[in-house]
Amino acid sequence: MGVANSISFHTFAVQNNQRAYMKLATKLIHAGVEPDPSTGAIMTPIYQTSTYVQAAPGKNQGYEYARSQNPTRFALEKAMAAIENGRHGLVFSSGVAATDAVIKLLSPGDEVIAASDMYGGTYRLFTKVFAKYGIKFTYVNMQDASNILPYINANTKLIWLETPTNPLMNITDIEAVVALAKPHNILVCVDNTFASPYLQNPLDFGADIVMHSATKYLGGHSDVIQGCLVMNDDMLREQLYFIQKSCGAVPGPQDCFLVLRGIKTLHVRMQRHCENGEKVALFLRRHNKVGKVYWNGFEDHPGYAIAKKQMRGFGGMMSFELADNSLEAATKVLSSTKVFSLAESLGGVESLINHPASMTHASIPREERLKNGLSDSLIRLSVGIEDIDDLIEDLGQALG
Ligand SMILES: *Cc1c(COP(=O)(O)O)cnc(C)c1O
Repeated sequence: MGVANSISFHTFAVQNNQRAYMKLATKLIHAGVEPDPSTGAIMTPIYQTSTYVQAAPGKNQGYEYARSQNPTRFALEKAMAAIENGRHGLVFSSGVAATDAVIKLLSPGDEVIAASDMYGGTYRLFTKVFAKYGIKFTYVNMQDASNILPYINANTKLIWLETPTNPLMNITDIEAVVALAKPHNILVCVDNTFASPYLQNPLDFGADIVMHSATKYLGGHSDVIQGCLVMNDDMLREQLYFIQKSCGAVPGPQDCFLVLRGIKTLHVRMQRHCENGEKVALFLRRHNKVGKVYWNGFEDHPGYAIAKKQMRGFGGMMSFELADNSLEAATKVLSSTKVFSLAESLGGVESLINHPASMTHASIPREERLKNGLSDSLIRLSVGIEDIDDLIEDLGQALG
């Protein structure tokens, strides 16, 4: 073993050691971030530059051109890896750009088994963009992991799942899917946007890649669009880094700074999202104008036992139907809230109310939506971190 090898081995061992002793709250604040070497600035500077001066041709400090290397981005990528218990992080200009990079690992003829109940934009990317390049997508209800078995064949290269799902809060057993995929060398990628790394770490259950829309809980303040991937395997990291720099969907340094700042408070925000979420879910369930409430913390939720096993809490995302299960009644509620803003997206400090059928999931055909249990009157809430009394009062007056 050469000198270079032993040095890189040493560095890696130190990093692992750091991860082992740091708890999540400490990692969220310190991981990836070091005082700026030139000034000691405690916050990572926004390196707003496209290129780097070289001392001689090919002689540089590891930074050549900012599509490939940017110190603000690198700090964020290290932080992302640490908080998802992975070795490598890569960030992208949006969540869908991160998903796009994963699918670009594949070739025509390859097959993907995807969850039937997932983010509308992921479904649109698969069906409208990648299907025409000869990649086949099969959509399967993964509430029972064994449902994927009949669809596994020699061409299956990737299983794509979300848990909890958007918007019906269905739970998939990550460990069970991995157990079915591993013997066939099929990659498993988990969209962990809804849970955030505070509630769930899919790599710990054997997933190969974790994907996030950092636009949501990681950024946390509804002020940035960004995506991220975290993985352990070095080869996979090389392939995805190659796609990141070749296709160029990199976020700017200002956006990286915002997400770095956002994740420093993830644990504190998530604690409040969970507390408020539980209170709102219980309020809705007891309300006589409300029909079914979809929230993972109810003991009679079909995914409760699995959620308990793989998550550390239940978060602030939920959906509900009205007792009067009509579009008119839903429209009335959606236009009557004053604290909950009617908007797409989720995971910010402010509470949002959303109508999946006409907003976030409009890109999924109506028959598909109904088949998956997504009714026209379904309302989705992203419960924020405002005072709980104001949130309950607002929903009460809107339902009244
Ligand atoms: C928002 C979202 C995405 C897409 O992320 P963008 O940052 O909007 O591109 C993917 N998956 C889930 C679950 C999301 O909520």
